[in-house]
Amino acid sequence: SPGEVVRELAAEVRSRGEEVGAYLAFDEEAAVKLAEKADLSLPLGGVPVAVKDNINVKGDPCSCGSKMLAGGYVAPYDAGCMEQLRAAGVIPLGRTNMDEFAMGSSTENSALGVTRNPWDLSRVPGGSSGGSAAAVGAHLAIAALGSDTGGSIRQPAAFCGCVGLKPTYGRVSRYGLVAFASSLDQIGPMTKTVEDSALLLNHLCGKDGRDSTSLDEPVPDFTAVLGKSLKGLRAGLPKEYFIDGIDPAVRASVDAAVKVLEELGVEIEEISLPHTELAIATYYIVAPAEASTNLSRFDGVRYGYRAEGSGDLLEHYMASRAEGFGPEVKRRILLGTYVLSSGYYDAYYVKAQRARALIREDFTQAFKKVDFIVSPTTPELPFKLGALKDDPLSMYLADLFTIPPNLAGLPALSLPCGLVEEGGARLSVGLQLIGRALDESTLIQVAHAYE
Ligand code: GLN
Repeated sequence: SPGEVVRELAAEVRSRGEEVGAYLAFDEEAAVKLAEKADLSLPLGGVPVAVKDNINVKGDPCSCGSKMLAGGYVAPYDAGCMEQLRAAGVIPLGRTNMDEFAMGSSTENSALGVTRNPWDLSRVPGGSSGGSAAAVGAHLAIAALGSDTGGSIRQPAAFCGCVGLKPTYGRVSRYGLVAFASSLDQIGPMTKTVEDSALLLNHLCGKDGRDSTSLDEPVPDFTAVLGKSLKGLRAGLPKEYFIDGIDPAVRASVDAAVKVLEELGVEIEEISLPHTELAIATYYIVAPAEASTNLSRFDGVRYGYRAEGSGDLLEHYMASRAEGFGPEVKRRILLGTYVLSSGYYDAYYVKAQRARALIREDFTQAFKKVDFIVSPTTPELPFKLGALKDDPLSMYLADLFTIPPNLAGLPALSLPCGLVEEGGARLSVGLQLIGRALDESTLIQVAHAYE
């Protein structure tokens, strides 16, 4: 019964959960209560889903991995996607750790705790949805929600051996997702199997009047393509994504996966996405610019962390923000404010928007020739905790292959494609599939046939 499933997961969280550190909050009794009342006639009746700590669930804390919202903020409403999932019978189960305000690739920017890779506890789980990925990878959850601005669903899914899907921009309502970079953010499922991903996606998508960018497009039954042959599908391998800097073990796993796709009937061809080299620089202008405005609401007055005993209003704002935000968030706010300032706006922000248009056009051209694009999800195997913590530029490079789909608004999925032995541990490698706008179905079809 759903109650037993929740009890079993809670027992796992008690026995092994501590060392993995996937959850920031886990209320077993509340979840069991919901589970026991679950309506099993609903499509996902009684299915527990862990939730990243930047998605509002009514009555639960929502800290975004930040001191700014920890210790008291309780969500007064459900996010749009959560309303839909509840209507389908889902039970929210626990709050998963994340990089502060979703800024990072290792979950080490969380102000509230360490999350470890369940395959090798000395390594990072990826980020920013590292808690969700570690929970699913360690069987501390059967499925979870993440958010993806530049790879935060796919990269941790790759590191923890799960399936992570970033839907088309606008597919899933952002109402109730604490905004990082509003033109890039998307919520999506993190699961053990492709089928589970399709089942959750069926109940995540749809128009929501409270998010003006949410799309009024028909939502197909994403499970309809499970089991469908891949014969005749064309896949593109972008030459700019198969470069020398890729870890040889990652490369070997991805090459082997491409062979399997070929055996399944996919026609493979090399393509070019010529503006790929602009993607990281473009993203690290656009995302901080949007973040700097989105995070201006955290002022120590309306809600969140409030500094004690600071003089006038300006000093109060400054002290609250100085004490409440961690170093990476401050770095992004400074960067974003700088590129939006009147003297530099044209040189950086406007230029980045132009580069973004070029990157989007690369995909438009590529999808005239192929039905989907294949690449590694990340160039590296999961790295050691602490290895890149003080090296933000190297950390940014981890997003090389995941950022372009966000800039273009396209759906992309990461699925496990290999295990690599390193230092006595087995590490997971992720394969990324990128699709045409609104064509999550092809990604699900291909991933399921491969799996
Ligand atoms: N690692 C990227 C960043 O730090 C992406 C984060 C995300 O997708 N939320 O911004």
